[in-house]
Amino acid sequence: MTTRPELLVSPSLPPPLYDFSPRKIKGSRWWSAARGAAEHDSDSCCYVCGINKGQTRSGRLFGHEVYDINYETFTVTLREVVVLCRRCYNFIHFGRLLRQYLEGSVSQGYVRRVLRDGLSILSRANIKPLAMQRIHYLVLEQGASQYDARECAIRENLTIDKFDPGDWSQWKIVIDGKKYGSPGAKEWLAEGIL
Ligand SMILES: [Zn+2]
Repeated sequence: MTTRPELLVSPSLPPPLYDFSPRKIKGSRWWSAARGAAEHDSDSCCYVCGINKGQTRSGRLFGHEVYDINYETFTVTLREVVVLCRRCYNFIHFGRLLRQYLEGSVSQGYVRRVLRDGLSILSRANIKPLAMQRIHYLVLEQGASQYDARECAIRENLTIDKFDPGDWSQWKIVIDGKKYGSPGAKEWLAEGIL
């Protein structure tokens, strides 16, 4: 199969829509069918690195939603569902992996390996990492300060997450022609979320 390393730098769901992901809106039956179809299409291989699930330690692949995001109209559209090995999945959701590390459920060695492996897949494919990915590398692997790492990512003109919390209440996701969106920022403020 043709691998798609560019999925490692596809944009993730903006925070106001965390509760409106397709798998939450459409439910577990839809999600398991979409995930199953993606796994069938790839002959049970990770879309990014091509490893077969039988060769992975966990013996399974993880479903992942790929989005088209319009930052002008604050609109997210589900493009497809793919399946990824745990390593590629964790590279895409690196912030979540770091939280798991802080909670003590994964080792520092594993976190660093995920980061190095993801970056090397990108480098082999001649794809620039996202600013955050480069910053994580400079801080965790090179011992740079957050400030210096950020400056470096900006100098290298890497893509910065375009989400602006000021636009919180405007974000919406369109699924099957129906719009779902976050509550107004005021409600979030009242709940102490912002
Ligand atoms: Zn993979």
